[in-house]
Amino acid sequence: MSNDIFGFTFDAQIKFRMIKSDKKIIIAIDGYSSSGKSTLAKEIAKILNYKYIDSGAMYRAVTLFALRNNLINDSNHQVDEKKLQDLIKQIKIDFRNSTERNRQETYLNNENVEDEIREMNVSNNVSFISKIRFVREKMVSFQQEMGKEKGIVMDGRDIGTVVFPNAELKIFMNAKAQIRAERRYLELKEKNVDVSYEEILKNIEKRDYIDETRDTSPLKKAQDAIELNNSNINKQEQLDWIIGLVKERIN
Ligand code: C5P
Repeated sequence: MSNDIFGFTFDAQIKFRMIKSDKKIIIAIDGYSSSGKSTLAKEIAKILNYKYIDSGAMYRAVTLFALRNNLINDSNHQVDEKKLQDLIKQIKIDFRNSTERNRQETYLNNENVEDEIREMNVSNNVSFISKIRFVREKMVSFQQEMGKEKGIVMDGRDIGTVVFPNAELKIFMNAKAQIRAERRYLELKEKNVDVSYEEILKNIEKRDYIDETRDTSPLKKAQDAIELNNSNINKQEQLDWIIGLVKERIN
């Protein structure tokens, strides 16, 4: 049997156990698309026994809802904001654990949409939905509610700047676009998603641009966030690095 969970070894888990404390903190992990935020966030949450929330999945779920209701123009990605504003009250998003698949899954109005929200059609439209102010306001208030009790790791684009500006630990992740695209390509290939490397790279670069330049809570590093460029470091090294930071913050 493998001693590996999500690619991290028991050694790291033992180190984490040694720093377990009753003090609960908020860990905000922001950064560029496919920079490895969720892999790191999930593992820390698991070992600290914290809640893990993938805020990107929420924007993806709203995008899927908009696509299903024909609220996004195919060719120019124009969103029918008026209709979306009317319908957004009907959207309920929650996360449930699947023991069978050993992962957390996203539910949209009680339907499991975890796989569908990762498809390219959603990826190609999500930045047009996530730049809409009323969408962000609704998601942010929901995210803040989930973090009220602390003991949470959330990843996204504006977690350290807008959602939890007082988070005890903020990380900002990045890596070269080509490396991020390659990692995403391998991940999707493994899931048998039919997509090319070039298509992924284009999508990542486009999303980066829209996320960074939008008016409402653009993607940017919080002043007090610690930057992690993981172009040339592996998962184990990243985990060791963050263990040191969590130790500092908890003590
Ligand atoms: O994290 P992921 O790549 O799945 O996020 C999908 C999209 O959701 C991002 O490209 C971005 O447009 C949006 N997003 C956001 N704010 C967050 C998380 C995600 O705008 N906190």
